[in-house]
Amino acid sequence: MKKQTYTTPNEYGYYGSFGGAYIPEMLHRNVEELKTRYLDIINDPSFKKELDELLADYAGRPTPLYLAKRLSAQFGTNIYLKREDLCHTGAHKINNTIGQILLAEKLGKKRIIAETGAGQHGVATATVCALKGIQCIVYMGEKDIERQAPNVARMKMLGATVVPALSGSKTLKDATNEAIRDWINHPDDTHYIIGSVVGPHPYPDMVTLFQSVISKEIRAQLKEKTGTELPSSVVACVGGGSNAAGAFYHFLDEKEVELVAVEAAGLGVNSGQSAATSQLGRPGILHGSKSLLMQTEDGQVVEPHSISAGLDYPGIGPLHAHLFETGRAKFLSATDQEAVEAAFNLAKMEGIIPALESSHALSALTRLSFSKNDHVVVCLSGRGDKDLATYMKYIK
Ligand SMILES: *Cc1c(COP(=O)(O)O)cnc(C)c1O
Repeated sequence: MKKQTYTTPNEYGYYGSFGGAYIPEMLHRNVEELKTRYLDIINDPSFKKELDELLADYAGRPTPLYLAKRLSAQFGTNIYLKREDLCHTGAHKINNTIGQILLAEKLGKKRIIAETGAGQHGVATATVCALKGIQCIVYMGEKDIERQAPNVARMKMLGATVVPALSGSKTLKDATNEAIRDWINHPDDTHYIIGSVVGPHPYPDMVTLFQSVISKEIRAQLKEKTGTELPSSVVACVGGGSNAAGAFYHFLDEKEVELVAVEAAGLGVNSGQSAATSQLGRPGILHGSKSLLMQTEDGQVVEPHSISAGLDYPGIGPLHAHLFETGRAKFLSATDQEAVEAAFNLAKMEGIIPALESSHALSALTRLSFSKNDHVVVCLSGRGDKDLATYMKYIK
């Protein structure tokens, strides 16, 4: 039996008391196929070779680890930005979709489905489907299709079919339901690309492994720059938790490295308009795994709120629920306003316009204390181009 650690769930996909595969019986076959084959496939040397080549030549890895000098002076320490914003398509999401499209090929799948809220994961999925000439269907709530027109246009230009989800609140959870329905109806030829460290086992582990390239690079780059492989702290924002899982992975079992997860507080943790799951959530089952989620007394999912679409999710992945429960990671949150302030600060101090999601991680710097010889790494998960319409409302 596989021993469960922070880096590896047990054979049933549990990290502590969180994880598992709570799925309808009709999905069992699909998930079982993945579960029995994913590790053999991704550990195969030919798979690794193709993955490494695409990460380098297509996604643009390794991304720089940049010592932000003016920001460092502001906080009285050494702050390094892991520049996932420089990845192709503008964020870390491409690391996972490249991995999963190669896996789908090895499984002999001819059709890809995905669900998307803001459209960022939809774009990253449509991108790799175009790269491989594989059919791509993206489910998206009708309301989100209206709100996220540029990403809908990108997906269509990349050759994907965008299918509106018309039920319920017409947002992400309804799109997820449609994608699951599709997968049940196409068990043989279709792979479902989930965009974060959520969903039934093996998705949280699989997506973590694909994103772990982030911390693998951080270790090597920090060693080269400072002589030490271990930063004092790693700070990352958490929506579902994939960029944080990737940035933490190679430090999870290094107890001296402080891990800081930053959630979206929205209008304030206790405002009723928040997405700070670790603070507000209770154990429950969402999208196929047991984790912490925001829910009513009778177990209905509470609509989250965040200024950043990527953090606007009512749950967190099971690894993060475990990191929270065991105290291995420190969980902080940043409000909409605080995130915007951190974004403007980075733009002025370093000439980098961050994604609103990443700005939540940056905002946490104001609430941490450092000494002058510390090495603090912030995962800059994405670039801010997509958020310009929001930022414009704050430009005086
Ligand atoms: C989607 C997204 C996130 C949130 O997703 P995680 O799975 O929590 O990483 C964070 N930053 C950016 C730029 C995103 O696009």
